[in-house]
Amino acid sequence: MEVTRSLPRIALIGTGGTMSSLGTSSLDLMDYPEYGTKISPDEVLQRVPEAAQVADIQTVPFRSVGSTALTPADWFGLRARIRELAREQPQLAGVVIVHGTATLEETAFFLDLTLDLDLTVVLVGAQRPISAVGTDATMNLIGALRVAADPASRGRGVLVVLNDEIHAARDVVKASTLRLQTFRSADFGILGVVDPDGVHFYRRVDRDRSPHGLFRQLPDDTVVPRVDILYSYAGADETFVEAAIAKGARGLISAGLAPGIPAKAEHAALLAALKQGVAVVQCSRSSSGRVAARRHLRENGIIPGSDFSPQKARILLALGLSAGLSHEELVANFTQC
Ligand code: GLU
Repeated sequence: MEVTRSLPRIALIGTGGTMSSLGTSSLDLMDYPEYGTKISPDEVLQRVPEAAQVADIQTVPFRSVGSTALTPADWFGLRARIRELAREQPQLAGVVIVHGTATLEETAFFLDLTLDLDLTVVLVGAQRPISAVGTDATMNLIGALRVAADPASRGRGVLVVLNDEIHAARDVVKASTLRLQTFRSADFGILGVVDPDGVHFYRRVDRDRSPHGLFRQLPDDTVVPRVDILYSYAGADETFVEAAIAKGARGLISAGLAPGIPAKAEHAALLAALKQGVAVVQCSRSSSGRVAARRHLRENGIIPGSDFSPQKARILLALGLSAGLSHEELVANFTQC
C-alpha cells in the first residue's frame, strides 16, 4: 500500500528585499534597489517551483520594500502577524520571512526577544536579486524552508539561513556588502548547516532570550523610545551626542573605539548625558569581542554592551526602556541575554 506523507505547513511571509527584487537585466546585481521592482511571495514561489517539494506553503504578503525602509513599528506589526498565523493555524510547523539583508539581523533579534511561540521562525534573504544570473535567492529559500520544516529547529530561537548556514538571531551580523557569505556569527560561530542530505545542528545558544518574559508582553502598538548610535572616530566630539539628546533620545549606544572607549570630547558629552538621565550603553565599533564591565563603566552608571553589535544593543536597550526596567535590570539584560 502506498503511504502518502503530507509536507509540513510553512507560512512564507514577504517583506521584500533582494530575494523579492527584479533588476533591470539579468546582470543587474547592484542598481535594483533604486531602479528595479519588487515581487510578491507568490511570484517568488513561481520562480522557485522546487519549494513545493519541501513544504506545503501558504504565502503571506506583509511589506514589499527594501529592508532599509523598515522601522520598529514594522517589527511589532510582523510579530503580531506571526502570532495571528500561529493562533489561526495550530498545525503550522514554521514561518519563513523573506527579508532584505540590510536590516535582517535587527528584525531577527527583535523577534527573538519578543516572540513566545513554539513554532520555528526563520529569516532568509539573498545577496543577488532573484532575476540575476547566479542568484542565491533560489537555494537560500529552499534552505530556509528545509530548516523551518525540520523538527530539530524548534526551541533554538529565531534563526537566520543564508548560504547553507544557520545562524542564531543574537549573534548574526551582515559582514559583507556583496559577497554571498555575508552573514557571520563572528565570535561564537554558526549553529549548523543545511546541506543536500538535510539539516544539521552543532550547537545551541546558552543565553536568556526573554529576560523576565517582559519583552513578550509588550503590546503591539508599543512605540519604542528613541535610542541613537554614536560611531566613534579619532577626534569625534560632542556634536552627535548633543544632537541625539536634542531630538529626544532616551538612550545612547556608544560604538566606541575598541575595547569600548569613546573619543575624548565625545566621552565628556556622554557623561553629561548620563547626568540628564539618558541611558548609555558602551559597545565597540570593532566587530568582535566583549565590552566588559570595566571599573569606569561601573562607577559612572554606563551599561557594558557585552558582545552585542551597536545595532543589536540598540534593540535590547529600547525594549528595556519600553518595559520600564531599572538601571540594574538593564545591566542584567546585557549580562544575561
Ligand atoms: N539588500 C537590500 C535590502 O535590505 C536591498 C535594498 C532594496 O532592495 O531596496 O532590502
